[in-house]
Amino acid sequence: LVRISGLHKSYGALDVLRGIDLDVRPGEKVSIIGPSGSGKTTMLRCVNFIERPTRGHIVIDGDLLGQKRVGDRVVDLDDRALARQRAGIGMVFQRFNLFPHLSVLRNVTIGPVKVGKVPAAEAEARALALLDKVGLASKAHSYPEQLSGGQQQRVAIARALAMRPKLMLFDEATSALDPELVGEVLGVMADLAAEGMTMLIVTHEMQFAEDVSDRVIFMDGGVVVEEAPPGRLFHAPEHPRTRAFLSAVL
Ligand code: ATP
Repeated sequence: LVRISGLHKSYGALDVLRGIDLDVRPGEKVSIIGPSGSGKTTMLRCVNFIERPTRGHIVIDGDLLGQKRVGDRVVDLDDRALARQRAGIGMVFQRFNLFPHLSVLRNVTIGPVKVGKVPAAEAEARALALLDKVGLASKAHSYPEQLSGGQQQRVAIARALAMRPKLMLFDEATSALDPELVGEVLGVMADLAAEGMTMLIVTHEMQFAEDVSDRVIFMDGGVVVEEAPPGRLFHAPEHPRTRAFLSAVL
């Protein structure tokens, strides 16, 4: 479903990603771990084209991300085509990024209505079902500031799902939460994983990564140092850098 090839990203002289290759199969859950500054967030942002790769490319479901081929040239997609492509990729950020002036329900319906051209009544029915799924049906008419951080993050997940994405990206979705609220968000993510969603998850929650992932990627210095099924990566890592990182965090 996702094929990342030779992905490089630099900010001026700073090479943040230095050649990432990664394939994600449909339904697969891949967690990305690694020290702060290793480029995890930058990689995820490239997969949503929030950041533009300096080199390399990303193919999602057969389509080149952010670009298209015209004859033997590759040109950028226009804004509308990019928005349509992005609609298939849900992203949940560390900060919840809800629209503060819109109700919970409107936060969830606005994408499908504006970008997806879904009729309002249908978008609303879909949104209510999703809010129910994340345990927040009763908060549909509340505003973000009236919710706890964990509730806001669950709304953010419902909002991403409302676009019916083929892929969900989670960027440290629980790191801004008070510890007692982390579990409810991880619970929603685990439900989603169990339903077969394809997920790319940047996380510091090692136990969660071990429980839900099919594969875990350890990144350091802008490259993939090691990737393995969770049992092996967490309990029998091969690379000394992976071992050093895990012994510091576990
Ligand atoms: P963390 O776990 O702390 O979020 P990370 O592995 O996700 O770390 P990134 O956020 O991808 O790391 O950042 C990698 C490096 O890129 C850091 O040194 C950061 O300062 C730098 N960086 C990220 N975004 C930009 C930007 N827009 N301009 C310049 N440098 C940036």
